[in-house]
Amino acid sequence: MRKSVFTGLVAGVATLSFASLVLQAADTAAQARAISAAAAADYTANLKGLFEHLHANPELSFQEKQTSARIVQELRAIPGVEVTSGVGRYGVVGVIRNGKGPVVMLRADMDGLPVTERNGLPYASKAKAVGPDGQETGVMHACGHDVHMTSLVGATRQLVAMKAEWRGTVIVIFQPAEEILGGAAAMLIDGLYTRFPKPDVVLGLHVASHIEPGKFQVHERIVNSSSDGVDIFVRGIGGHGAAPHTTIDPVVVASELVMALQTLVSRSIDPLEPGVVTVGVIQAGTKRNIISEEARLELTVRADNRETRDALIAGIQRIANGVARTHGVPEDRMPVVMMRETTPPNINHAESARALRNALARSYGESRLSAVPRQGMGAEDFAYYGSPEWGSIPTVFFSVGGSVADDLRKAPPHHSPLFIIRPEPAVRGGVEGYTTAALTFLGRP
Ligand SMILES: [Zn+2]
Ligand SMILES: [Zn+2]
Repeated sequence: MRKSVFTGLVAGVATLSFASLVLQAADTAAQARAISAAAAADYTANLKGLFEHLHANPELSFQEKQTSARIVQELRAIPGVEVTSGVGRYGVVGVIRNGKGPVVMLRADMDGLPVTERNGLPYASKAKAVGPDGQETGVMHACGHDVHMTSLVGATRQLVAMKAEWRGTVIVIFQPAEEILGGAAAMLIDGLYTRFPKPDVVLGLHVASHIEPGKFQVHERIVNSSSDGVDIFVRGIGGHGAAPHTTIDPVVVASELVMALQTLVSRSIDPLEPGVVTVGVIQAGTKRNIISEEARLELTVRADNRETRDALIAGIQRIANGVARTHGVPEDRMPVVMMRETTPPNINHAESARALRNALARSYGESRLSAVPRQGMGAEDFAYYGSPEWGSIPTVFFSVGGSVADDLRKAPPHHSPLFIIRPEPAVRGGVEGYTTAALTFLGRP
């Protein structure tokens, strides 16, 4: 029993005696109690107000101008944090240097969603904005990114206050545009790993409406699926609706294509590997008696590993061409398949994830760890921070619960106009989670 409790500590510090491990465990518990008490006090004094402000004033992806300004103001008020704004457009980076030791990066995301809030909260958003399609829309923090920002401000304050207890460098990043899977890449391309100390580990946190309030969830490997936006332009030969024999009708080709794509997951990939191909948009035509020239399909493709992803993408191209040929589409008008936004699968570094899980259990007790299984095949652009293109840096993405529902399955889902979380346990848990996560990988004085 004892051994498993200490597994995380033992990794990498094999020379420590059992007695010193017991001392460290007692230290860890005392340290965790101090973190919890400080998180509770900070929530009442500052973080509740910050959360409600951020919740009431959400901004769309890559429009996070006011949010970014507020975060800069919060970080500048904490002594010893070097603050840089405008990294990857509205991204904010804070660096806390505290001697030689590991470099630990903590990430929060900042954007809201084009959703009109309908949950009746007193601090519900009334914000409106013009989306990338030129349409005005309501805006809402319907994914809980306000919880992440608030928690990371709180954790930054704690880590600065606890400087005597750790050595190394902490980098806190506030990332724009997660919801369109563009902000992580924007910050990396803008020099996140070259203008600032390169991290040894990157840690990200997400609140979850289907996890018990204040509980943590750390998966050992896969956390989020890959996501690819794929557009298919089906090209036919237009004409009069009353003379279909003189045309090749792209509406008919596209309709058959939608059905044919359903066989990809069921027939082309390993049944033990999950995959999703969803056609979310199908558009064609201008008038009932005109056969159009083109139909457009917009798909999202999800997978848990690169092989399945590649097989699905290749299958889409193959089936699109095959269906087009069946209908006599000329070779020079084969469907055009275009890749849109894409993000790799978000896979935790197993050893680091185990270390974090054990540290959270040691600090706050096993009862604070949730056993709720992973839900659906959502994507996260946090995956970029650990991707091979950017140096395969170990990453851990974990969750904190904020459910308002007694029956967790009935909690309003993320991205819904009814999305709601319990801010106090979520933010206090978020502060504890980020702070303990950083301390797990930082050096000791
Ligand atoms: Zn989201
Ligand atoms: Zn999110």
